[in-house]
Order: sequence, then structure tokens, then C-alpha cells
Amino acid sequence: MDYSTIDQSLRFIEAEMLRLETTKLHVTFFGGEPLIEVEKIFYIIEVCSEWTNFEVTYQMSTNGTLMTEGLMAKLYSNNVFVSLSIDGHPDIHDAHRLDAGGKPTSHKVEAAAETMLRKNPATNVTCVISPDTASQVSESVAYIFDLGFRYITTTLDYSADWQPEHFGILKKSYEKLGQWYVQKMKANERFYLSFFDERIRSRTYKPIAASERCLLGTKQFSIAPNGELYPCIQFVKTQSLPEFMIGHVNTGFDTACQAYLHELSEKEKVECRGCKLEARCSKWCSCINFMSTGRIDQASPVVCYNEKVLIEVVDKTADKLWKKGNNSFLHKHYNEDYDIISHLEITL
Ligand code: SF4
Ligand code: SF4
Repeated sequence: MDYSTIDQSLRFIEAEMLRLETTKLHVTFFGGEPLIEVEKIFYIIEVCSEWTNFEVTYQMSTNGTLMTEGLMAKLYSNNVFVSLSIDGHPDIHDAHRLDAGGKPTSHKVEAAAETMLRKNPATNVTCVISPDTASQVSESVAYIFDLGFRYITTTLDYSADWQPEHFGILKKSYEKLGQWYVQKMKANERFYLSFFDERIRSRTYKPIAASERCLLGTKQFSIAPNGELYPCIQFVKTQSLPEFMIGHVNTGFDTACQAYLHELSEKEKVECRGCKLEARCSKWCSCINFMSTGRIDQASPVVCYNEKVLIEVVDKTADKLWKKGNNSFLHKHYNEDYDIISHLEITL
């Protein structure tokens, strides 16, 4: 994105904030690799810091290859929450994450991990699982935990070529991960593992309410390098599909297109009718549905297989810990102050 589009984007955002009479803005820098354009990131932060009436927070995800001690310190002091991508131990990571010259990146990422954890012990890792790494989920999570990370977000590569047989492999991996989870609970460890903790919470408390979700294209939008507006990051890649373009920073939102896409994303998924997991399943994420099926009104079969396999394993793991009256488990899932307490314990 050139500086003139950045300036126009910032003017557009400021005008929208005033029009909507809102004061909170959350900015996510995304790529590719956002640190390639780090000067532009700090330019944006500098402009936003002049908006004294707005409370602006930032986040970004990095592959870690350009991270340095000084850069991390600057991002941290500007309140940019930086998440690191690590797919697992070096063999797993290097299977998919090579640099532009085709060289492995795991050694750089391990160095970035140390740098980032030193500055922020609550740094989150995003771990992406692909069909060829499905058998190693438990080992990958254990490796990331052993590096020192206590916030681990696990996700599938929904655009990959998943076949039904991969979910048998994933089931075994999840069972192993369940044993790892039990072991860590018994050892009284404080940590967050999205695959398990989100699904335990959706059963213990209640599923995410529709109002808390992204409400495709209304609560959140993404700006493409040329200033076009899209409902979410994944759609920025679809610049050849104008039906997903909800406006431009020069002309504002196309409200009819916004409303159409939102309505389509909220439409009942007929393939899910009667499914007892419907309230806990992530089939409402239009990005994932789009990546997997090319449509936003159709549940992804990959999500469907994965949720069925994962929820079964997670519920069995949780039942086991509940029946044993495991203190860490009860504290984690039944104490409303757990998130704050554990964050303090991890960071202090
Ligand atoms: S990834 Fe899914 S849940 Fe997140 S903003 Fe995009 S559509 Fe919404
Ligand atoms: S995607 Fe599958 S698991 Fe999820 S609600 Fe629909 S039918 Fe159920």
C-alpha cells in the first residue's frame, strides 16, 4: 500500500468513526508478512496516536523471520500485540514455511520466539495444521509449549486438500493431544489452547452469541493495498471477484453489497439443520467457508469433519478431568477471574 492510499484509508477510518459515533478502533496489520512494511506500520500508529478521542489498539501476526530485539521493543512499547506463526518442530515448520529463496526458516523463528517471549511472555503462537502434518498435532503443540509459549492458537489450513482419511489421522492426534492436556492440567500449568479451551467453554458456558461474532462486513472490514474494502482478510485475495468488494476508501461503503453479504453469511445452513453440534460449531465463519467451498452460505465439509472429531475428543477429555475433580480444570473453566489471574501468573 502506498502512502497516499494509507493517508486516504486513515481519513476514511476517522470519518467512519465519527459517523458511527464510536471511539474504539482495533487495527490488525496483515500480509503476507507485515514486517516487510514496518515503517508504514509505525507511520499508521503515529497518525492514529494523534486521534486523542479514539482508543486504538493494534495487533499483527508475523512469521518471525524479520524480528529483532529492537523491533519487538518498539512494537511492544506502541502496544502492538504480536502473534508468531510456528507450525511445530523444525521438520514440521520447514515443510511449509520456506523463505523466498526456498530455504528453511525454523532457526530464525526459534530466535524470534526467544526475543518475543523475553519482551512479552504472553505472546500468542498460531499453529497451522495441514494434511501432511495432521499426525503430529500433539507433538507440535508440545514443542511450542516447551519453547515457553502459554497461548497457543491451533487452526487447520482450510484451503488445503483435506480428504476423509485425514480426519481419522486427526482423531488419533487429538486423542494424544487430549492426554497432553490432561497431563498439563495435572501439573497445574497455566496455558490456553484454542482447540480445547474454546470448545470446553462453549459447552460449560454457552456458545458465542451471534452479536459477539464478526457479523461479516459490518463490525470488521479489511482494506486491500489499492484501497478496496472487503469484509475480511481472506477476501482481499479475491480482487478478481468484485461481488465481495464492499466499497473503496475513496468512495466509502457500498451498503447494499455489505447488507447482501451479511445476510448471505447469516442464512441458515441447510446442511446443518438438526445437528446437535450446531451451537458449538465454527461453521458461521464465512472466511473458512469461502476458502473451503468458494461460497459463504455453505458450511465447509472440512469444518464439519473437524468439529465432529474434535468436539468428541475434547468432551471426553473434559469429562475425565471433571470426574477427577481436577483443580486446575475447575479453576480454568469455572472461575470467571481465571483469564486475568493466569495472565498475571504467566507474565509476572
Ligand atoms: S475469519 Fe471468520 S470470524 Fe474472523 S472476521 Fe473473517 S469471517 Fe469473521
Ligand atoms: S458443519 Fe457439521 S458439525 Fe457443524 S453444525 Fe454443520 S453439520 Fe454440524
